[in-house]
Amino acid sequence: MFRYWLDHVRYLTPRGGLAAGVWRRLSLLPVGGRPLRGRAVRRLLLAYIRRKAVDLRPVNFSLETLNACNARCTMCRIPSMARRTELLPWDLFARAVDGAVGSFRPKAFFLAGTGEPLLADDLAARVRYVKDRSRAAVRLFTNGSLLTAAGTEELVASGVDEVSVSLNAVSEGTRRQIMGLPLAPAEEGVRALLEARRRRGSRRPLVSVSLIRLPETGGEEHAFLRHWTGVADFVRVLEAENWSGLVPTRHPDALGPPIPCIYPFNTMDVQSSGKVVACCRDVEGRLVLGNLHEASLREIWEGAAAREFRRLHREGRITEIPVCRDCDTPHLNRFHWLARQ
Ligand code: SF4
Repeated sequence: MFRYWLDHVRYLTPRGGLAAGVWRRLSLLPVGGRPLRGRAVRRLLLAYIRRKAVDLRPVNFSLETLNACNARCTMCRIPSMARRTELLPWDLFARAVDGAVGSFRPKAFFLAGTGEPLLADDLAARVRYVKDRSRAAVRLFTNGSLLTAAGTEELVASGVDEVSVSLNAVSEGTRRQIMGLPLAPAEEGVRALLEARRRRGSRRPLVSVSLIRLPETGGEEHAFLRHWTGVADFVRVLEAENWSGLVPTRHPDALGPPIPCIYPFNTMDVQSSGKVVACCRDVEGRLVLGNLHEASLREIWEGAAAREFRRLHREGRITEIPVCRDCDTPHLNRFHWLARQ
């Protein structure tokens, strides 16, 4: 069990201080425990999940600003996505935000979904729209290639709470190989963002950098942690996921029997077309729970499709849901169930 927790601790490396050094050392230890394979532990976890799931309501709202990306990542499905490229129209975006704030108690809005949000000209305005109406955090995921000095000023001024930058390398060659993008502009962008925040005297946004653990990045993991610890607020080393089975890999931790996923219970995902789908791993929108053109977020959450989706997860019958059947995310995120929602 200790080895399992260690594996999760290594995801976060806080900035600066004694703790940073401790975390960094922990993060470099070789780990690989998989304690949840035991039948008894799994039964206990399932019983706990079933009880907890009944009371959960969506607190996270993923609003896909734009389903386009300028990167060509080898571990991502977006480059081969069949969906039409489109921007989430402003009226639908506003309806989603108003619906979430009016019907639920949102804790976070993710204005990324499947795509690079900085490609949208009005991103800062969207952040402000949310911040003017809600105390929920606004988070962005970006590949960092479009973080210009002027753009970072606008971003900091918008009130965004966290910007997570997927760098995935410390060397130009590796970044180009796995993302098809240069590294230097993104690194400069991260520093520009931190500098813009400092100039404004603000504590937001938190800035995190991440590297996905892949055969190509394995040799750079330690250097990445050393390079960014004490600079960014968080340094994350993430496991590669298989995008609901669309990427032909499966994390070794996900070889056991299926366990329920927490996303159907605490997250709603709106694609740029207005469709509300299973989650952001469902990049092609294979499981549509409703459409914002026709119904409100609350109506969709309470609708038959969403209730059935949650029931099958709650009962551990994930293999009956084609989009979730081969997904390795529930295994990787299983301890999210223990967190306070
Ligand atoms: S199992 Fe995978 S596809 Fe299904 S809701 Fe969870 S993350 Fe999404």
